[in-house]
Amino acid sequence: MSRPVLATLDLQALANNLQVVRRAAPSAKIWSVVKANAYGHGIDRVWRALHTTDGFAMLNLEEAILLRERGWKGPILMLEGFFHADELPLFDKYRLTTSLHSNWQINALQNARLQAPLDIYLKINSGMNRLGFLPERVHGVWQQLRGLANVGEITLMSHFAAAEHPQGIIAPMARIAQAAEGIAAPRSLANSAATLWHPEAHYDWVRPGIVLYGASPSGDWQDVATSGIRPVMTLNSEIIAVQTLKAGDTVGYGARYRAGSEQRIGVVACGYADGYPRLAPTGTPILVDGIRTTTVGAISMDMLTVDLTPCPQAGIGTPVELWGKAIKIDEVAAASGTVGYELMCALAPRVPVVTV
Ligand SMILES: *Cc1c(COP(=O)(O)O)cnc(C)c1O
Repeated sequence: MSRPVLATLDLQALANNLQVVRRAAPSAKIWSVVKANAYGHGIDRVWRALHTTDGFAMLNLEEAILLRERGWKGPILMLEGFFHADELPLFDKYRLTTSLHSNWQINALQNARLQAPLDIYLKINSGMNRLGFLPERVHGVWQQLRGLANVGEITLMSHFAAAEHPQGIIAPMARIAQAAEGIAAPRSLANSAATLWHPEAHYDWVRPGIVLYGASPSGDWQDVATSGIRPVMTLNSEIIAVQTLKAGDTVGYGARYRAGSEQRIGVVACGYADGYPRLAPTGTPILVDGIRTTTVGAISMDMLTVDLTPCPQAGIGTPVELWGKAIKIDEVAAASGTVGYELMCALAPRVPVVTV
């Protein structure tokens, strides 16, 4: 037997979450966002469970080509477009829809020798100030693009900075409306948060990511608890040692936890080198033998320690859920000052992964 840490991916939950999105945005088509290796789940493991999607969105050419080689014939959207002009022959060969956000990309597209025009997602900067053209420039860019032989269908695209807030899309939507004035083109605006909480932003194509994997775009599981979405990734391990502390004894690096009285502590075979957040403080929720308890002391590279007071029956070999169905990844992330997105993406390559 090997080290007991294991990630399990529930592909039925993934398919279910796509259906939840479908019901939330019934008149829109869906780009399932599988960037960052499907948010750490492994694009090759999970894409088939999403095969009823209308398209896949990502940003690595390697991931796009992999999907084509696996047989996906539907649309693929490259969310950041091409990074250098010399990628355009591959966009052409694999028929990739490209986001277009900068002047140099227009020139590159104009000068490329393509077999057929590429569909374009013209990116509007609606206030995020990362990628895209300012609203007042969009009409000019759109007209310029329409005159290019290498340009196929044009869709207007924007990305929200704060769609998890009730008021978060009001100003961006106004800028998008200004940019889109006089332009008859489909629109794609909504990330997970806007897909769930702002139907007025759905338009033609929504672009959900995190919600497909079963975590909350706001970072708070309560915000999606009744939405029907289910966690896809479960990270499990086992207790590999037990210590009985006396009052005043400390645990782990930095002696950050000190027992106030006699206390049983379990040592779990999972640490930050597996992707568990090193900054998770004492008190981070964890499931031992089906019972909620908490971590105590510092997270080590390969181990972490838990309070066994609520589960006196637990011992060596007892199963532990770090996150999954019972302990939501959002809870662990929130305790650690981060978001579920980061924890998923940070699942370490050394952790074996199985799909069910
Ligand atoms: C990552 C990303 C999404 C998906 O965001 P979620 O919050 O995971 O739903 C949508 N659109 C763009 C442009 C993105 O980069």
